[in-house]
Amino acid sequence: MKSIMKADLHNHSYFSDGVLSPSEVVWRANDAGCDLFSLTDHDTTNGIAEAKDEAHKLGISLVNGVEISAFWRNSAIHIVGLGIDIDNDELQTGLEFNQNLRKERAKKIALGLWRSGIKDSLEKAQILSGGHMLTRTHFAQMLIQEGYCKDMKSVFRRYLSGRKPGGVRVEWKAFEEVIKWIQAAGGKALIAHPFRYRMTHTKIKKMLYDFKNAGGDGLEVVNANSSDEEISLGDQWGKDYNLLASIGSDFHGWPNQRVQIGNLADLPNNSRAIWRYL
Ligand code: AMP
Ligand code: MN
Ligand code: MN
Ligand code: MN
Repeated sequence: MKSIMKADLHNHSYFSDGVLSPSEVVWRANDAGCDLFSLTDHDTTNGIAEAKDEAHKLGISLVNGVEISAFWRNSAIHIVGLGIDIDNDELQTGLEFNQNLRKERAKKIALGLWRSGIKDSLEKAQILSGGHMLTRTHFAQMLIQEGYCKDMKSVFRRYLSGRKPGGVRVEWKAFEEVIKWIQAAGGKALIAHPFRYRMTHTKIKKMLYDFKNAGGDGLEVVNANSSDEEISLGDQWGKDYNLLASIGSDFHGWPNQRVQIGNLADLPNNSRAIWRYL
């Protein structure tokens, strides 16, 4: 066995807000030489069957995955579930709950945008989603296409967050519950991209401490855009709170994004890598 495993355990297809099909995501992972990878669409496992078929044909290892929206205290955060049984009822009931929240939110976003003079945004975002699950990213793409903003960052800031026209608060479940859905399906629950929540380091550490106490399994230590400092801090906190370390690009395949599948820093030496526990 190679001494270093090439893994990418966080990727999106067009079943949520990525642009590629599950098969195309698998091809990219294969081309990148991944030994192990996962498809982790937002709040749905509907792309997994196709990804599994394709991975089987190519002879590469696919870990069943999902990225579930949740709350910790007052912050919306993302929990990645890896190694899940996608036929588990408790998990699927939870995902349906989130899918319904997303449908309700999409209508409210469209109403907010309509009030600020932007018409037909629900229909336009639905076309961009190809009839799959609607995410804020589809509204963002639509607003960029229509010339309201020039990039993702500004469109989220100006239209789709907080008190902005399309900013909608969603009552996701607390992460304790989401951990249960994932573990009921035999999976491991991990905090996704810990440095992307606009939290101070002190607050991130509190979240990790609570996550461990709630039975959580790990955190993502390496993402595509992680700095060296973030990797060493994440790794250290994983050790401090007895959490497993995961690695994933959070690839979506959007144009103008440099993120590529499998193009990731290695986990630090002595990390407790998640793949040994899947
Ligand atoms: P949703 O899960 O529908 O709330 O959409 C959240 C998704 O939008 C995230 O998973 C990211 O893919 C994307 N996103 C959120 N904020 C930003 C941002 N500031 N810039 C670019 N993409 C973002
Ligand atoms: Mn996304
Ligand atoms: Mn995320
Ligand atoms: Mn993601």
